[in-house]
Amino acid sequence: MRKKVIAGNWKMNKVLSEANSFVDEVVEKVPNSDQVEAIVCAPFPFLASLVEKANGSKVKIAAQNMHFEDNGAFTGEVSPVMLKDLGVTHVVLGHSERREYFAESDETVNKKTHAAFNHGLTPIVCVGETLEQREANETMNLVEAQVKKALEGLSADQVAKTIIAYEPVWAIGTGKTATSEQANEVCTHIRNVVKEVTSEETAEQLIIQYGGSVKPANVDELLAQSDIDGALVGGASLEADSFLQLVEAGTK
Ligand code: PGA
Repeated sequence: MRKKVIAGNWKMNKVLSEANSFVDEVVEKVPNSDQVEAIVCAPFPFLASLVEKANGSKVKIAAQNMHFEDNGAFTGEVSPVMLKDLGVTHVVLGHSERREYFAESDETVNKKTHAAFNHGLTPIVCVGETLEQREANETMNLVEAQVKKALEGLSADQVAKTIIAYEPVWAIGTGKTATSEQANEVCTHIRNVVKEVTSEETAEQLIIQYGGSVKPANVDELLAQSDIDGALVGGASLEADSFLQLVEAGTK
């Protein structure tokens, strides 16, 4: 059975002291279960400190983005080499906010996915449709294209280790959660697409998260779905208490 993976995406929130006390608390209280993995996706300036605090615990620290090159003249960017050197284990790639505000494309997401694996980082690749695209019945085709391009050129082993987060853009930060059936329908489609481009065995190993207004009140129903293996959570991951409730839900 696939384990559950709960990732808290803080986005551009908190200062260092708040980040530190959050991770101190989560490290102390995180459930000691192999059924669930807890990941904190933090802003770059906090990563070194958080990795140190989480060291030896079950909590993993992730970045929210990175460049695909190892180093060079890319002012303001952070490379996979830097993240790996710090002890970061995961990186969020292609979040819809990066696609919308920072010109992230399917091509750059694919380059970054390769770069992550080249440096031993696990990518959390975000895909999902806007409201207009859903209303125009484009959801399945769009998500399929995003998944195929993000995974292009990866080995089956790398695909099996990728985490895909299905996040309908209209459900992010809006309080509008996709119904668990709507969310599962797309997650099942993603697994079928992966099956088609690799194999059933690979597709069955893939962790697929749902993201978009996940909170303690709706997480159980989402995680009970056949193809939802976890959650990528923004707003409800900002308080340690709420984040811990979500992780706890993954142990059930
Ligand atoms: P939200 O954000 O939980 O605040 O909707 C989810 C995300 O953007 O990953």
